[in-house]
Amino acid sequence: MAVLSVVQAQNIQNNSSSNHANKFEQLGTLLPTPNEQRTASGAPGPKYWQQRVDYDIKCELDEANNTLSGSETITYFNNSPETLSYFWMQLDENQHSTVNNANYQNQNTLPQQTTDKVLDRFEENKGDNGYGVKITKLTDVAGKFIKYTINKTMMKVDLPAPLKPGQKFVFKVDWNYKIVNRGDFIRFGGARGGYENFSDDNNNNYTITQWYPRLCRYSDDQGWQNHQFTGTGEFTLCFGNFKVQMTVPADHIVGATGECQNYAQTLSATQMARWQKAQTVKEPLQIVTLDEALEASKQKSSRKKTWIYKADNVRDFAWTSSRRFVWDAMPVMIEGKKVMTMSYYAKEAYPIYSRYSTKVVAHTLKSYSHFSVPYPYPVAISVEGNQGMEYPMISFNPGRALPDGSYSEGAKNAAILVIIHEVGHTFFPMIVNSDERQWTWMDEGLNSYLQYLTQELWDNKFPSQGGPPFTITDYMKLPKDELEPIMTNSENIKNFGSNAYDKVATGLNILRETIVGRELFDNAFREYSKRWAFKSPAPADLFRSLEDATGEDLDWFWRGWFYGTDACDISIDTVKYAVPDVTAMPNQMNDTTYYRPLAKPDVNAFEDLSKIRNKTDKRIVFETDKDTALRDFYWNYDRAIEKYDSTKFPVPVKATTEPLDEEGKKKYGSKHLYEITFSNKGGLVMPIILEWTYKDGTKEVERIPAQVWRKNEKKIIKTFLKDKEVASVTLDPYKETADIDESNNTFGDIKTPGKFKVFKQKQNMTPQQGINPMQKAKEKKGF
Ligand SMILES: [Zn+2]
Repeated sequence: MAVLSVVQAQNIQNNSSSNHANKFEQLGTLLPTPNEQRTASGAPGPKYWQQRVDYDIKCELDEANNTLSGSETITYFNNSPETLSYFWMQLDENQHSTVNNANYQNQNTLPQQTTDKVLDRFEENKGDNGYGVKITKLTDVAGKFIKYTINKTMMKVDLPAPLKPGQKFVFKVDWNYKIVNRGDFIRFGGARGGYENFSDDNNNNYTITQWYPRLCRYSDDQGWQNHQFTGTGEFTLCFGNFKVQMTVPADHIVGATGECQNYAQTLSATQMARWQKAQTVKEPLQIVTLDEALEASKQKSSRKKTWIYKADNVRDFAWTSSRRFVWDAMPVMIEGKKVMTMSYYAKEAYPIYSRYSTKVVAHTLKSYSHFSVPYPYPVAISVEGNQGMEYPMISFNPGRALPDGSYSEGAKNAAILVIIHEVGHTFFPMIVNSDERQWTWMDEGLNSYLQYLTQELWDNKFPSQGGPPFTITDYMKLPKDELEPIMTNSENIKNFGSNAYDKVATGLNILRETIVGRELFDNAFREYSKRWAFKSPAPADLFRSLEDATGEDLDWFWRGWFYGTDACDISIDTVKYAVPDVTAMPNQMNDTTYYRPLAKPDVNAFEDLSKIRNKTDKRIVFETDKDTALRDFYWNYDRAIEKYDSTKFPVPVKATTEPLDEEGKKKYGSKHLYEITFSNKGGLVMPIILEWTYKDGTKEVERIPAQVWRKNEKKIIKTFLKDKEVASVTLDPYKETADIDESNNTFGDIKTPGKFKVFKQKQNMTPQQGINPMQKAKEKKGF
């Protein structure tokens, strides 16, 4: 190999040919311009505002017909600086209507075989299946009808008079709908709410969600939400206070968002005593036991009972009802405040839920409160509903055992991780109220990230996905036409879980562990959570807050990981190896006063258009230079290049180096220099993390930040000085960067070393800098 000086080796990276694109440029106009509502720091601005909506709802569950009817009084507070002439409301149950659904079509192909149920669905779609919300009355408080128009899953309410800033408007809506059978997967698979029938005792579990007509969010950055509900993009709502009265069969147990106001009327004396005892227990205590639930499932009460719940400062309200439920509870203290953690589950889930559910809820609140904001609500509930879905203070989760009561480790872990995830959603997006209808990733991704941290704190060996970078590589290496950026609307995502959940969680974990560091990143994530708790952040508010609070320009990371689809694939192309020649003689060894020619005078010899015009342009002759002789002097003084003769004006320069002394030989005689060429094959820029394995078997890890790629995004060369001889070098030994091809990450074939010369640098012996050579010449000439 070529012999290099140490100085050359250090600088070669800067001389490599440029291959600069935009990977390290600012996001610029990709982000909205900061304003008085949303600042450049990512925080809510001094004029941030949001609407408030309070609900007072009475509803009744008809178990025989599986219908729900309700009557609600809505109080809308216009906190915006604008006058509103109409409201938009969400009628999410219209998702199941064959006439009022959002009609966001999916592709389908001719089947080779099918069932009558599938063909029934084609038939049903031709007419009105009777599902969806029926609005029976919409009036103001005085009972005067208000005009409304239904547009698929949304409803426009025309206000009788414009609603000015600072004013409130109260109105009433009566409605009913047929509850879907969630067990009918062909027709209603994935439904957020509905009933599930159990044929062994012919009873239903009801999960009542997205059920009452809800106000859409009106905001500074979106105006009225106008994205229809298709079942994918969830929702965004306003905060407000709820009072909800649910009339259900008298033998049902109800769990809901908020605190029950009338346990004294709804619980038996025994249950009430257990509830009071549960306020101070250390382990979950059953308020309704399995035996009692089994007994209750044997017959159906014809009487009714009304459960009254209240919840303050929530964006939604959901509930569950069944006579099949076991119910347990345990308090947990969050920053000195008691929260009742509870679970509702039937016999199918008893083996897993009675052991784990409420304990997992408590662990989740502690962990999320540590990493984001302290849990602010008085209760947190996990309901076994055979699927995962979240609402404020209440979540529905899976976790059933086999008929003999046994369960696999996989089923247990699935229950635990989904409970963590769905309970975690009370933080994101139920407290940090991002717009799920626009950005699935803003709540699912952030929540999956904290879910991952919470799982690891539950069990350090938990089989986590979405967090460890190596678990995302199968997704990242998919062909480009199967990938879309994280910054993609909820309805348009192909690989929903990998894109909006796992890739986001992994990216945040990479920021935490590899790019920013735990302490700074954890504080920044808390800062974002605190800034936007009970407010509505947009993506730019997250990106800006995390940069603002870490002191790191992360635009390159948002650009690559969130706005792009490139994967990380860094390869080690070559490793060159050299050892020092410590006995080398500098070229000018004995010549301590060699002569160095002066530089030529520094003039622009070519007369461009400006110079030509300047000579004749009268306008630029200054007042003091009116005398053209003076101007000519300035322009022509002593810079006749043809007269310059460098040999006449030598400047003595002393040699800057000499051979290494004994100390230097001892210090550097046994060093090793390695020059590595890396190429970026995947396109995504990432830090370079190197593990050196020395010939003596020891290892060392070295970290180079991603900015090493900023002047050449495709190929870089870097040289390393090592004390010991290297056997091999490996990229990303802890699998931190989601590198999709590890076959080019190790280089062990290091060739016989070349040599590089090392000299002793002499201090203060470089020529004087900053002396104008002409000045020097004039001094010599004596003028
Ligand atoms: Zn989720």
